[in-house]
Amino acid sequence: MATINENYLKLKAGYLFPEISRRVAAYSKKNSSARMISLGIGDVTQPLAPAVVEAMRRAVEELSDVRTFRGYGPEQGYGFLREAIAGNDYASRGIEIGADEVFVSDGAKCDTANIQEIFSADNVLAVADPVYPVYIDTNVMAGRTGPAAADGRYVGVVYMSCTEENGFLPRPPAKRVDLVYLCSPNNPTGAAAGRDDLRRWVDYARQNKAVILFDAAYEAFITQPEIPHSIYEIEGSRDVAIEFRSFSKTAGFTGVRCGFCVVPRNLKAYTGDGAPVELNGLWSRRHTTKFNGASYISQAAAAAVYSPEGKRQTTGIIAKYMANAAFMRRSLEELGYTTHGGVNAPYIWMKTPAGQTSWGFFDRLLQKAQVITTPGCGFGPAGEGYIRLTAFGAAEDVKEAMERFAGI
Ligand SMILES: *Cc1c(COP(=O)(O)O)cnc(C)c1O
Repeated sequence: MATINENYLKLKAGYLFPEISRRVAAYSKKNSSARMISLGIGDVTQPLAPAVVEAMRRAVEELSDVRTFRGYGPEQGYGFLREAIAGNDYASRGIEIGADEVFVSDGAKCDTANIQEIFSADNVLAVADPVYPVYIDTNVMAGRTGPAAADGRYVGVVYMSCTEENGFLPRPPAKRVDLVYLCSPNNPTGAAAGRDDLRRWVDYARQNKAVILFDAAYEAFITQPEIPHSIYEIEGSRDVAIEFRSFSKTAGFTGVRCGFCVVPRNLKAYTGDGAPVELNGLWSRRHTTKFNGASYISQAAAAAVYSPEGKRQTTGIIAKYMANAAFMRRSLEELGYTTHGGVNAPYIWMKTPAGQTSWGFFDRLLQKAQVITTPGCGFGPAGEGYIRLTAFGAAEDVKEAMERFAGI
């Protein structure tokens, strides 16, 4: 008899986006002429930069010629891309990361999901609330949590509530934990951790022999010069942190697929007997055994993001999204709403008007303005009383959506 991994039965049904679709479909059915505008999409909308498209074309040409054809590549990624990453994302900021510490993948979702495999089942984890669900669900599947409680939080996990009072930036818990997931700039709150915030976490991790899993998928959206782009800008972090990045939001690769993570050589965790083991070797073993590399075409495209034209073009696209974010923040503040984020991230975390729940305000915007948003409570109980707006829409749509907000 084949038996199942019963941890999967602990997972709450993916409820948020199906429920949004259900409500939008129900409204559209009754109001077929209404033109919906979505400020809910967590996906880029602008096409790939021309320099990236050109690199992909060249890669396809190479693969179509017997003299330049390539089959399986190195599982950890091609040297040309690992070196471009080490040089452009790290050395340029004075951070020493070797190409052999970079692991190229098909995206940060997989990496942030898979990394927990190299840690034992009894590690205690800390996550923010609200949170990107991948961090927690993958640990539930692996049996690192108890069942879900009535509020949706899993037993045994340390949740760090992100609220207006703490600026939506989690502080190290009083309790000792082993693994900490941090996401900065943050999805969904748009908050970005400063040097002092990260310094506190690095100190905590060093004191507790904990490992920080740092998701920097939105670092390219940072506009304030004082905000760190990498956790490795903090002294001592190489011993305690793994960093995840992605070309998905940076360069519109949500369909192309390419990302990477950095596992520094000197970063260690421990056996049950307390013997230190380097995580770079463990991750390399996992990666080479279970993954056959991102496609050559994706990696060639990713390398082009670092060319002078690639940088200029992708920065230009991000600037457009961030202009949307600035316009949204300004418009909403003028209308008397309280907003957070939208400065170093393409997400605006908007407080619902007094007395309205996330779903209540979602419904009001849907019915009165035909604008689709994402209820904050869908990311965790601390998200109740907020909605998430994204800046990934077309500028004309964003403008019209703000005019409709004025009318509700
Ligand atoms: C979009 C996103 C990613 C990127 O995922 P990919 O698999 O690289 O597309 C990672 N983390 C967060 C929090 C995200 O929102």
